[in-house]
Amino acid sequence: MQALTNRLKVVSRKPMTFWERMYLPAILKGMIITFSHIFKKRPTINYPEKTRPFSPVFRGLQILNRDEEGREKCTACGLCAVACPAEAITMEAAERKVGEEHLYKEEKYAAKYEINMLRCIFCGFCEEACPKDAIYLSETFAPSNFQRKGFIYGKEDLLIPDPKKDPEAYKKALGSRAKHPEGHGNEH
Ligand code: SF4
Ligand code: SF4
Repeated sequence: MQALTNRLKVVSRKPMTFWERMYLPAILKGMIITFSHIFKKRPTINYPEKTRPFSPVFRGLQILNRDEEGREKCTACGLCAVACPAEAITMEAAERKVGEEHLYKEEKYAAKYEINMLRCIFCGFCEEACPKDAIYLSETFAPSNFQRKGFIYGKEDLLIPDPKKDPEAYKKALGSRAKHPEGHGNEH
């Protein structure tokens, strides 16, 4: 027979011995391997009750940040959208009105802010580009979904909880950045 590759192997067709036909030694060998694993430390964890620690450089789901008074930091400057190589970010800017100073930190804010998580490659460029420390990639990830539209994250999905109304949820969303509630040096 002519071989097309050099991976051809001749299969042995020698008849089975008496012990091989009994299958008992093979079953016993398999049982020993199975039982030996009972006493070994389990590499599996009970997710979602338990989670593995993330790497310090892990980049997960984006969070739109607030300041310590709960005001939205984003000024809808669009720098994150320009920096995004996947063109995953869209937004609409609006002017802050008199009496809204407690809601928005700057005179301009994002009335609409969307990230398409199906496009996002979690590169972190949006975080790097932001001059207001208004967006960062958190230590969590986008949950699975059966619908494409479920991956379009709006402002209501991305905004961090208000630290004044829900300090616990705010702290949890900040993750390891809780030590730096005013950001990590991006703000000018
Ligand atoms: S992480 Fe990268 S791909 Fe995702 S929204 Fe930010 S800049 Fe775009
Ligand atoms: S998140 Fe930052 S870079 Fe993006 S629009 Fe808001 S302020 Fe500008």
